[in-house]
Amino acid sequence: MGKKDYYKILGVDRNASQEEIKKAFYKLAHKYHPDKAGGDEEKFKEINEAYQVLSDDNKRRQYDQFGQTFEGAGASPNWGFDFSNFGQGGFGGGFRPGVDFDFSDFGFDEDLGDIFSNIFGGFNPRQGKRKKVQYGSDVRLMIEISLEEVATGAMKEIEYNTLVKCDGCQGRGYEEGSGFKTCPTCNGHGEIKEVRQSFFGSLSQVKVCPECGGEGKIPEKICPVCKGHGRVKGKKRITLKIEPGINDGQIIRVAGGGEDGEKNGPSGDLYVEVRVRPHPLFKREGADLIYQISIPVVDAILGSEKEIPTIYGKPIILKIPAGIESGKILRVRNKGLPYFGRRGYGDLLVRVNVKIPKKVSSRAKKVLEDIKDELND
Ligand SMILES: [Zn+2]
Ligand SMILES: [Zn+2]
Repeated sequence: MGKKDYYKILGVDRNASQEEIKKAFYKLAHKYHPDKAGGDEEKFKEINEAYQVLSDDNKRRQYDQFGQTFEGAGASPNWGFDFSNFGQGGFGGGFRPGVDFDFSDFGFDEDLGDIFSNIFGGFNPRQGKRKKVQYGSDVRLMIEISLEEVATGAMKEIEYNTLVKCDGCQGRGYEEGSGFKTCPTCNGHGEIKEVRQSFFGSLSQVKVCPECGGEGKIPEKICPVCKGHGRVKGKKRITLKIEPGINDGQIIRVAGGGEDGEKNGPSGDLYVEVRVRPHPLFKREGADLIYQISIPVVDAILGSEKEIPTIYGKPIILKIPAGIESGKILRVRNKGLPYFGRRGYGDLLVRVNVKIPKKVSSRAKKVLEDIKDELND
């Protein structure tokens, strides 16, 4: 995406309120709407793109900070993925790459969304054909993995319910050898004309015929298995690769792993949110792992060696220096988790807790009394 000044495009201040941004957008969108005399489609798209970013607090923050948002440019259909969700736990970001350009996702009024989808969408943008394509919806799943799996990476078998291509008709929606007849809704034109009133005044819209999807003809014998949809309820199974060092809440996108489209339309994507189960021994802090041990007070005074477990299975021997104080953290280099997406490992941080006995025998008490002055040095 080229670096554009979205504030300049909308003619607003950098600290403009949402209300001001919306107002500016409406005014400009009205002016440059391509269906209007003196309209300008390029300019209109640019305005739209600017509005999509600035009207969304998350995207606006990203843009302010980095000069861009982490997804494709705005006006083009949003097949990209909002990386702002990464590592922050959950599908909070409000992305929902929709079927057939659901512009309601971008916070447009319904009326406006309709007009937009008629300009940019409605027709298959990938092929540029005047044909309605039914994209499959995206599917979201959550899986849980262990901290050990974070350490080593893993391959996870996942099976989930979704809509899959119909076997009965190979996704066509009609029986093999079926004849075709002229679509009664559009009389074979493949499109229908609609005149409607809107914010922008009276607009004449040509829509893809909903009955035949722009084909102008409909099959005589629809598939009885899928009732003509070309897809049915079913299961998909995938093997998901978990990269070492993955963060809790990170989302993995599997292109084409969502619902299959109607009548062999493109499949949606699968989004898998990865949750890391809490570990009984280690607490995670980024790539570092924190482990706590308690040592007897005498070991703290004299020093000792302790066996410490690691996330990789093989324990290590840790040297506890003499005179260590309670709460001190000993760092074992490179025994933490791998960094996500780059070389290297975090550390294992061992927090040493010194145990003070609640009760001591009279003999021990006597010995301690004898050497008290020495220890109080
Ligand atoms: Zn039709
Ligand atoms: Zn079928």
